[in-house]
Amino acid sequence: MSEAVAVLPPLRIPRSLLDPRLALPTPDAQGLVAVQLEQQDGTLRAIQPWPGVGPAAEDLPLAITPPLEPHAHLDKAFSAAAFPNAEGTMAGAFAANGREAAERSAAHVLERGERALEMAWRHGLRAVRTHIDSLGPAASPSWEALEQLRRRWAGRVELQLVALVPLSHWLTAKGAQLAQQVAASGAVLGGVLGPPFEAGPADAAALLALLRLAERFGCAIDLHIDEGVTQPGRGVRLVSRLMREHRIAVPLICSHAASMALLPDRACRRLAEAMAEVEIGVVALPPTNLWLLGRQPGRTPLLRAQAPIRQLQEAGVAVAIGADNVRDPWYPAGGFDPIELLRLSVLTSHVLPWERQGLAAFTTVPSRLLGQAWDGVLRPGGPADLVVLGAASWEALLAASPQRRVLRSGRWLPPPAAESPSPLLAPLRNAAPADPG
Ligand SMILES: [Zn+2]
Repeated sequence: MSEAVAVLPPLRIPRSLLDPRLALPTPDAQGLVAVQLEQQDGTLRAIQPWPGVGPAAEDLPLAITPPLEPHAHLDKAFSAAAFPNAEGTMAGAFAANGREAAERSAAHVLERGERALEMAWRHGLRAVRTHIDSLGPAASPSWEALEQLRRRWAGRVELQLVALVPLSHWLTAKGAQLAQQVAASGAVLGGVLGPPFEAGPADAAALLALLRLAERFGCAIDLHIDEGVTQPGRGVRLVSRLMREHRIAVPLICSHAASMALLPDRACRRLAEAMAEVEIGVVALPPTNLWLLGRQPGRTPLLRAQAPIRQLQEAGVAVAIGADNVRDPWYPAGGFDPIELLRLSVLTSHVLPWERQGLAAFTTVPSRLLGQAWDGVLRPGGPADLVVLGAASWEALLAASPQRRVLRSGRWLPPPAAESPSPLLAPLRNAAPADPG
């Protein structure tokens, strides 16, 4: 039996997240339109202009469609407390990651993944793509744990899995076998490409082997590439060249692509055009890049290497923004919170949520890059899924981290744990404020 049609409280929604075919009033100066949504059984039935009865339009809460996390590492999330990298260097991250991976078990990965997905879900994420360290004794238990979580969370947070190995592994028989297994489970092939780069043709041979495997097994690829401040753009240039020369058309994402931003402007733009030509997507990861890259003892950083988001977008490359590491040796902060990432990216990357392309990097573009059925645009007959913010303007959203309520399939989720009063302050709950006199 069908539910009755439910009318949602009036909201202000970015015009770019509402079906362009709808007859709606002109968006306001913030790009927002006040609307009244109706849903039934988790499906939107109607999107009407807000008739203006009751609160003024500028007092209505802002809402967006649920974002996606295009790049995470659930197998190591929350491991920073036991395996810290206090100095915040790349070398320190590698070393701590290695020590942690030697002890990693299915139980660890299950616990970390469950905690991560619970946070992601309550924060409004509808999909998470995680890379998995896929070489060594922890590989099989990690895959088993994350496959289990993928099934458990289906319908709430879609979990996508990427096999992360050194690129040269794809040249080996074991690599080909792994590719076949990955393909059979509907997962994605990954790898790490420079810096440092191998001297000679070794990187090109390994990359070509990976591209061929993806072609053969019908897999997508997601690379960690150019996560550094040397040899700018060398990895993405190699990928673009091989795809063009060998006419390989597999869905491919370059995650990081940070050093590319250090190229002179013209060279950067030419490279972006070459990437657009072979339809490479980019996932920019500002938090981890700004934490690890350009770090020098005793100096405040000037070099803030991260993917050249604007130049890539202008060349027609699809760019999504992700958070990458969460409380692990690679980055000590974060919490699977796309609204926090959006707020942070305003500062780190001058990505502005009131601009169409700025907001798209968290919503419509990652849904395309992750091959989702829903593009993240609200329309009658589509999902009744929203993240409603306790902010009535973009300025309010930037001024302070807003509370939120998440609607998924027409049902309101419990608020994120982080929005409840801190248990650390519980002993002060009844503390009287000081007398102002
Ligand atoms: Zn990563």
